[in-house]
Amino acid sequence: MKDIKVIGSVNIDIIMSSQKLPTTGETVKADKYYLYPGGKGANQAVAVSRTGVRPEFFGKLGNDYFAEIIINYLKKENIDIAIKYGQNTGIAMINVEASGRNMITVYPGSNGNMSIDDFPDVRIKNSIVLFQQEIPLKTIRDFITKLREDGNFIITDPSPYSADKYILENSDILTPNQTEAQLLAGCDINSIEDARKASEIIRGKYRNNVIIKLGSRGSLVNYNGEIKYFRAYAVKAVDTTGAGDCFNGAFASEFLRTGDVDKSVEFANIAAALSTTGYGAFPSFPYQNQVIRIQEGN
Ligand code: ADP
Repeated sequence: MKDIKVIGSVNIDIIMSSQKLPTTGETVKADKYYLYPGGKGANQAVAVSRTGVRPEFFGKLGNDYFAEIIINYLKKENIDIAIKYGQNTGIAMINVEASGRNMITVYPGSNGNMSIDDFPDVRIKNSIVLFQQEIPLKTIRDFITKLREDGNFIITDPSPYSADKYILENSDILTPNQTEAQLLAGCDINSIEDARKASEIIRGKYRNNVIIKLGSRGSLVNYNGEIKYFRAYAVKAVDTTGAGDCFNGAFASEFLRTGDVDKSVEFANIAAALSTTGYGAFPSFPYQNQVIRIQEGN
């Protein structure tokens, strides 16, 4: 494999932080305000880049003011961008109160009508390709059909949850979190042993490899039928938003470098744990040298 491509969603996240959330009809004053790119696709691309590999991101933005902000951010993050312009840029309006409770409204905008026809000249060969499910499933299926012939390695995060048989069967690794793994396997996961069983069910159903992300418990890998549990790197988590995206991006970077699943999961567990020690999604994603320092015990 020679490089990493990320195909998926990108939004502008508008975050307002107030002492207390408004109730219907109420107006409250925010004490802080942030504007960041978000969306699982863009998050994973940032995680790839920060952990040492310059990725190419395929997404769809609107012909509007937010698109310019997003492109500037992604360029600053050393991401190559293949963008198509459509209706309006996707927006997530996030209200957070001091207790941590939040209220989110998402407008998918152009993510919702991204299509393979938006990228007629796309030629991806011998790449690791990352998908998530915030763009139409048909678009993912069309990309996968095109990508499968050219020696690409497909990693799909089945999030938001949807069990599309074609996508699941034609990915090389699936990376559900605990909730998605429960839904895919049709059983509860309350222990590592349960996760092990769920991974076998998922592997049996979709004939592929699985990494189950287990939050503060770490992750469980079922690769080529060999099952291994990796405990989490212990941190004081303050906000787990984007931890799963950070995991996938960091995993892909280390996998490109080493081709070793175990090493890549260990690396991704540390990166994702570090991402929970700061607020927001990608602003808290760590860089490769921070992960290496921890691996080396400094
Ligand atoms: P998602 O964000 O997709 O719901 P998880 O919550 O399972 O996914 O988190 C993804 C990964 O982030 C985990 O596999 C683990 O490596 C790391 N992680 C998440 N929460 C914590 C935590 N509290 N402490 C340490 N690592 C964590």
